[in-house]
Amino acid sequence: APLILWFRRDLRLADHPMLAAAVAAGRPLVPVFILDPETERLGAAAKWRLGLGVAAFAETLAALGSRLILRRGPALAVLEALLDQTGAAGVHWSRAYDPAGQARDTAVKAALKARGVQAVSHPGHLLHEPWTVETGQGGFYRVYTPFWKAVQGRDVMAPPPPPKALRAPGGWPASDRLDDWQMGAAMRRGAAVVAGHVAVGEAAALERLHRFLSGPVQDYATARDLPAVQGTSRLSENLTCGEIGPRTIWHAGMRARHEGKAGAETFLKELVWREFAYHLLHHTPHITHANWKPEWDAFPWRKDNADAERWRRGLTGEPFVDAAMREMYVTGTMHNRGRMIVASYLTKHLLTDWRVGAAWFDDCLTDWDPAANAMGWQWAAGSGPDASPYFRIFNPATQAEKFDPDATYRRRFIAELSRAPGPDALAYFDAVPESWQLNPKAAYPAPLIGLAAGRDRALAAYSARNS
Ligand code: FAD
Repeated sequence: APLILWFRRDLRLADHPMLAAAVAAGRPLVPVFILDPETERLGAAAKWRLGLGVAAFAETLAALGSRLILRRGPALAVLEALLDQTGAAGVHWSRAYDPAGQARDTAVKAALKARGVQAVSHPGHLLHEPWTVETGQGGFYRVYTPFWKAVQGRDVMAPPPPPKALRAPGGWPASDRLDDWQMGAAMRRGAAVVAGHVAVGEAAALERLHRFLSGPVQDYATARDLPAVQGTSRLSENLTCGEIGPRTIWHAGMRARHEGKAGAETFLKELVWREFAYHLLHHTPHITHANWKPEWDAFPWRKDNADAERWRRGLTGEPFVDAAMREMYVTGTMHNRGRMIVASYLTKHLLTDWRVGAAWFDDCLTDWDPAANAMGWQWAAGSGPDASPYFRIFNPATQAEKFDPDATYRRRFIAELSRAPGPDALAYFDAVPESWQLNPKAAYPAPLIGLAAGRDRALAAYSARNS
């Protein structure tokens, strides 16, 4: 009897413990991707990007004599139908760590076992399962540096190599057509612009890794802070769809470190920030939707408001903020320095609830990740674990002088700041919704709030909370 391989955010062949185990079992394999309610709920850009990943992975499987069967509906119902149609003996998948995914998987596993069907979950998405990293007292880590110290010397399993072929079943069950799912429907015109900035699939991800490690890694420790420079790996987009495994990146980074490449250790540490985010998500799942520190529930965050709408549109009049917001529409991602600055500006200068910003990132990022996004926002807002304290307020103007000294980044994305705007600055007007009625010839807006006034207002709210 065949095995069903339920692919989710693990759209690759190499470094895939589940796939390696299934191939070793020697049975025919039925790979399936399910558009289930949890996947339906993804933000516009993340869902569109996942659809591109699914298409690429289907081709990869076809080249190995296999297929990717596409089905839509609640996962358990879909899997039960497939079990009936294929006579499969079991279902295998790579673990999810977000609360919704975990709840779904737990229910599926229990129901399948009750039917007498083998249901096996495998690692793969992370270097270390979140519950295996413990403090001396047996608890979880709330602070990054001790977490890094705990994992840096740990063995990381060598990534299993990609299988050369996948045994096909005697007959294939029916499959939906990916086009019929319209996974890009909510992207409207944005997709045409962002498509020029994505690198889809396992081969593209490996190429990104090798390109980064054969050059930019040398200067990574400083260049990673400069948004005008291509100084980072850009692997977040691929990691979130599982087009590359973290063990592959870890081992390649370790080799680079042994070869004495400056910056390799900093890069490994960033990869471990991703692990830390999942560690927190696992142990404190409320991080996605509630203040991690409950004392922040009393803070007078503003709910969604007109200033936040200007922030979403990249029209705050604060050039570093607007450049970063526009970068997100045009490329589907935002430089880490930009993410920190726009998040600080929204939660401090605009005194707006971090969840308003996090929800917008959910909708706009092609590299959206449930753990990193939640941790990043709570870090910036001051409400999270190991957070930047609320009273440390990024000044976007000073940040710009420091990290974008010749204004290359700001001019690249803000047409109004340049007499002859370049393609990315103009592309923003094609990427955003038509209903915003933006015009590249309009004057650049005046600042929503003075930087000193916004800072003072935030600090006053902070001390009122503490008094
Ligand atoms: P590189 O610098 O090449 O780093 C390599 C990898 O390390 C990244 O691909 C990523 O997986 C991991 N990493 C690096 N920095 C961080 C970090 N601060 N936290 C967690 N992991 C990290 N990252 C996402 O992947 N998805 C998100 O939705 C997301 N939202 C964020 C929201 C805010 C408010 C902030 C401040 C940060 C957010 N980040 C998010 C983290 C970070 O900005 C991105 O991971 C990084 O910019 C991706 O670029 P890169 O792949 O070139 O990273």
